[in-house]
Amino acid sequence: MELGAMVRLAHPANRLPNTSSAQPPLRFKLFQAGSAVSLRQRQQILPSKGRWTILAAGAVDSTMQPIVAPSRDVLELWRTAEAVCFDVDSTVCVDEGIDELASYCGAGEAVASWTAKAMGGTVTFQQALAARLGLFRPSLSVVNQYLTSHPPKLTPGIRELVEKVHSRGTQVYLVSGGFRQMIEPAAVLLGIPKENIFANRLVFDDAGGFDGFDEDEPTSRSGGKATAIALIKKQHGYKRMVMIGDGATDLEARMPGGADIFICFAGVQMRPNVAAGADWCVTDFNTLAQGLD
Ligand SMILES: [Mg+2]
Repeated sequence: MELGAMVRLAHPANRLPNTSSAQPPLRFKLFQAGSAVSLRQRQQILPSKGRWTILAAGAVDSTMQPIVAPSRDVLELWRTAEAVCFDVDSTVCVDEGIDELASYCGAGEAVASWTAKAMGGTVTFQQALAARLGLFRPSLSVVNQYLTSHPPKLTPGIRELVEKVHSRGTQVYLVSGGFRQMIEPAAVLLGIPKENIFANRLVFDDAGGFDGFDEDEPTSRSGGKATAIALIKKQHGYKRMVMIGDGATDLEARMPGGADIFICFAGVQMRPNVAAGADWCVTDFNTLAQGLD
């Protein structure tokens, strides 16, 4: 089964088993909610599959309602996480960096059609990245001109949220399929150190001409965000990590050894498949800030 795939479980007798426990086991709560089950939760449940029936399995069911009121477990994890990772495009910032840069270079439409293809999953991430960059081949001076004339467009509420998360002693990371050169100005505004950015890097030749992208960055490959988060977790020995984003690659980062919960931020882009697979779906950052109180 694919990562991020969902299952629905039901007790065979179609009723809740008796329990006298004050804190019912996770599977009871999930059944009561009739909600989707995350990969992590599924792993906790599947050992007892003799008692439970999988009603549907496979791709995320986008008709499922997103979880807008988090479970106690999810809220607890949000409050006690040692590290919070944010996607950048359409999450921390209201735009998609590569599309904006392409527009600036006069290749907006051509690149947008490739972006749509990449989102549809018909090409690998690295193929789409190489193809899109190949359409406008940005030089160092063009990137610098763009950055000077286009300061980061931060999503409302992100500054306050990051400040609050930082004030609790929690580390904040930016994990993006975009480019470091374009993410660093946003990180500066948010007080996030450079070493907490995991993203791609545009490469230039000695004359400042476009020379591709750094293929050693984990985020340059399909599944790259999951890899990056697993690396961060291992490096720092974090026990609890949260991923927040709007895309399928963000959802994918919730996996054993990676993010423990995934929060869908649908305040800029609403992607039903991603929202349906999330442990919690919000449309504004204030909801997350309040959740910390
Ligand atoms: Mg995004």
